[in-house]
Amino acid sequence: MNSNSKLKLLSGYEIPVLGIGTWKLTGEKGFHSVKKAIELGYRHIDTAWAYGNHEDVGRAIKESKIPREKIFLTSKVWYLNLHYEDLLKQTEEILDKLKTDYLDLLLIHWPNRKIPLEETFAAFQKLKNEGKVKSFGVSNFTIHHLNDAIKLSTKTIPVSVNQVEFHPEFNQKNLLEFCSSKKIILTSYSPLGTGTLNKNRFLKEIGEAKGKTPSQIALRWILQKGIVAIPKASSEEHLRENLDVFDFALNNMEMRYIDSLGSDNRLINPGFSDFNY
Ligand code: NAP
Repeated sequence: MNSNSKLKLLSGYEIPVLGIGTWKLTGEKGFHSVKKAIELGYRHIDTAWAYGNHEDVGRAIKESKIPREKIFLTSKVWYLNLHYEDLLKQTEEILDKLKTDYLDLLLIHWPNRKIPLEETFAAFQKLKNEGKVKSFGVSNFTIHHLNDAIKLSTKTIPVSVNQVEFHPEFNQKNLLEFCSSKKIILTSYSPLGTGTLNKNRFLKEIGEAKGKTPSQIALRWILQKGIVAIPKASSEEHLRENLDVFDFALNNMEMRYIDSLGSDNRLINPGFSDFNY
C-alpha cells in the first residue's frame, strides 16, 4: 500500500485510499491548504455543498495544474435537498462553483426519511446518464438506512460508499462488517477524532516504538482495515504527517489492541442525525 493505492468501487471506478477532508477549510485558508495538499501528492479531495468552500477548492485544483482527471473529487448534497429537482439544482451549483464538468463521487449528506429515496435515485440516474457524476454513495447511514438504499440501487447506480465517523475511539465494527459484506467501501471521516486522538496514550505508546505520532497510528489502523481515510489538515506539517503512513505497518496484535480501544466516543452527532434508526 502507498499513497497512490486505490480501492475498487461497486461502480467500477477506483477511490484513492487517502484524501484530504475540507470541513472548515474555507476562503484563502481553504484554497492554500488544498493547493498545498495537491502539491504534496494528495489526489483525493472531500468536500460538500454544506462546507461553503467549493469555489476555494475549485480554484486550488485549477491552480495546481494537475489535470482534473488525476484528482478524485467528492462532494455531498445536503439532506434537505434530496427531492428530484432540488438535488439536480444543487448538483449544478456544486459543479459550477467547483468549475468542473463532473464529480467522481456524490454522497447523500445525512439520511432524510422524510424524502422518498426513489426521488433521490431518479435524480442520480439522470446525473449518471448526463456524465455529471461517476459514482454515488451515502453518508451517516446506519445498516437500516443502507438496506433501504440498496433496495433502490441498480447496476448503474450502486451505493458505492458509506462515509461515516470511524476512528480508534469509535470503532463501528458491525457497520464495517455489513458494508464489507455488500462490497460498499467505508470512508472514515474524523479519522483523527477531529484532532483529539493525538493525545490518546495507547496510540502514543504504539507510535513511540515506530517513530510515528498517534495520528499516524490511527490513520494506519484505518487504512489496514481496507477503509478510506480523509483527514482534514490545514498546516503543511499536518498534511505531510498524514501522508507519511505508508512506510510502516501494524502487526495483528497491534491491530487487535487498537480494535479494543473503544466504540462509544461518537464526536459528530447533530440534532438532525438519525442514528437510532
Ligand atoms: P479530523 O480529520 O479527524 O481532524 C482534523 C483536525 O485534526 C484538525 O484540527 C487538524 O488541525 C488536526 N490534525 C490534522 N492532522 C493532524 C496531525 N497529523 N496531528 C495532529 N492533529 C492533526 O476531523 P474532521 O475534519 O472532522 O474529519 C475529516 C473530514 O471528514 C472533514 O474535513 C470532512 O471532509 C469529512 N467529514 C464528513 C462528515 C460527514 O457528515 N460526511 C462529518 C465530519 C467530517 P489543522 O487543521 O490545524 O491541521
